Amino acid sequence: MARTYNFSAGPAMLPSAVIARAQQEMMEWHSAGMSVMEMSHRGKDYMSIAEKAEADLREVMAIPSNYKVLFLQGGASSQFAMVPMNLLRGSGGADYLNTGMWSKKAIAEARRYCEVNVAADTSAGGFCAVPEQDSLQLNADAAYLHYTPNETIGGVEFDYLPESGEVPLVADMSSTILSRPLDVSRYGVIYAGAQKNIGPAGLTIVIVREDLIGHAPEQTPAMFSYETHAKADSMYNTPPTYSWYMAGLVFEWIKEQGGLAAMAEVNQRKAGKLYELIDSSDFYANPVEKNGRSWMNVPFTLADAALDGAFLSGAAERGLVTLKGHRSVGGMRASIYNAMPEEGVDTLVEFMRAFEQKNG
Ligand SMILES: *Cc1c(COP(=O)(O)O)cnc(C)c1O
Repeated sequence: MARTYNFSAGPAMLPSAVIARAQQEMMEWHSAGMSVMEMSHRGKDYMSIAEKAEADLREVMAIPSNYKVLFLQGGASSQFAMVPMNLLRGSGGADYLNTGMWSKKAIAEARRYCEVNVAADTSAGGFCAVPEQDSLQLNADAAYLHYTPNETIGGVEFDYLPESGEVPLVADMSSTILSRPLDVSRYGVIYAGAQKNIGPAGLTIVIVREDLIGHAPEQTPAMFSYETHAKADSMYNTPPTYSWYMAGLVFEWIKEQGGLAAMAEVNQRKAGKLYELIDSSDFYANPVEKNGRSWMNVPFTLADAALDGAFLSGAAERGLVTLKGHRSVGGMRASIYNAMPEEGVDTLVEFMRAFEQKNG
């Protein structure tokens, strides 16, 4: 059996050590007489798994005690609606930064609920830059400010944390959570679909400051209210038990690697190797301004798009797969989340050099 270097944007690679551990525990978890998948979420074995996962995430991210961590379903896309449903608190409007395809989706969903003030918009430049703090047209009365720290499709990542004053900051961290240390206390809500940097699809993590819970209007369905899930420790209904368990194994793995500071060091180095090659070549190009380049998703084009097919098949022969770019951008995209080993990036860089030499 040979595992490939899988550059998929999501669902993405998981650490091999995590998959091996899950395989070991698949038929019978510890001495429980059953697989984690078969456990009642209210039994003591599963409760211990769930509690350990939350404790480890809190430790890894240094989440302050006045924040709840929710383990939900529905994906980040459900949060596009749950954020306005829970955070508007009677206010008519919220601020959004429009920096890419995922911001656009979040904005479209919020418009069902409120007046959206687009406080920055980089669409005219093809979403290739991060807006400067000074340029943000923020509304002091906004219920919250929503932004996407890392735009997975465009490969654009904020190199600063937007200052929103008293207005709660809400971040869709689906493709950057756990990639580096961050100050959770600066945020009102952080949310992320699991399938990029946390674990298997099916789990969505929401980290929410306690004072922002309990303000959803009366008619809000129970399943869409943060209060419901916070009060029930994410066990109001059946949570995505197996994905939650797998996420717990990933959190343990991150701790073993040295935590988020160690993740950041490797991630920065991995991304740096790719951008260095792209910038030193006339054959490869990345359109994003240097300060806004993502550590997690590296889109690039070849000088001649007619070579795309040969590039992809040559890469696949070396075990480098899922490099085709998003259909809206074209070219290639290397998603290099925490679980992508540095050797995977080194192998890709070597292949890219050789391909350029032959075809450039
Ligand atoms: C993948 C992704 C989403 C969509 O996540 P789902 O869990 O599929 O709903 C939203 N935002 C960002 C930034 C993403 O990378």
